[in-house]
Amino acid sequence: MTKIWIDAGHGGKDSGATGNGLVEKNWVLSVANQLQSELVKAGFEVGMTRTNDTFYELSDRAKKANSFKADLFISIHFNAGGGKGFEDYIYTSTPAGTVESQKIIHKNIIAKITKHGMRDRGMKRANFAVLRETAMDAILLEAGFCDSSDATILAKKAYQTDFCAGIISGVQELFGTPVTKYRAGKYLTSNDAISGKNIKGYLEAGTKVFVYKETAKTLNLTTTKGVPGSWVLKTEVNTGKR
Ligand SMILES: [Zn+2]
Repeated sequence: MTKIWIDAGHGGKDSGATGNGLVEKNWVLSVANQLQSELVKAGFEVGMTRTNDTFYELSDRAKKANSFKADLFISIHFNAGGGKGFEDYIYTSTPAGTVESQKIIHKNIIAKITKHGMRDRGMKRANFAVLRETAMDAILLEAGFCDSSDATILAKKAYQTDFCAGIISGVQELFGTPVTKYRAGKYLTSNDAISGKNIKGYLEAGTKVFVYKETAKTLNLTTTKGVPGSWVLKTEVNTGKR
């Protein structure tokens, strides 16, 4: 099973950035907890630096993720300093695979958050301890600025939910999703899947798939990344209900 480590920044004596009624350590914890439950639902194994208001040193965060043998480390933060927009960081000197992971995660988050008016500040690199000392691909997300007009966006529950959704679709694009807990009908078109007509076979439980395309009710799932696959009903892959 693919293992994701979620690192909620700051905590305890370290509040992180504050502004406009927002406190970073609380905001990132709420997002991290939401992300955890959704990633588990999507079939990932999830480890957390913290699930409550506790302080951990940066090196301990990396050590915990390393001993968990995570496949990806995601550190959640928001920014201060008066700028505007979302940005993410990978370590300054990093393998090509990490650069590719950043591209995929960045693209998926941006796709979900620009509708809230959050700007794209781009993909960046920094010599941050949690990025340097982690043994796996590691990315640090700065969700916006608490001390600019971004604050009203950060405060919205819908923004937090879309921010999580962007991370999840990025993780799914990177690792594929073992969504097929249940055998699901495969169809040639989305409409066929909805009507249940012209079934062309079944996607067996446990098949590891990538989401190629998504509509409100259906998913195009493929076993070969980037190539169209078969249409299945979301209700079949997510809940097993028919
Ligand atoms: Zn921070």
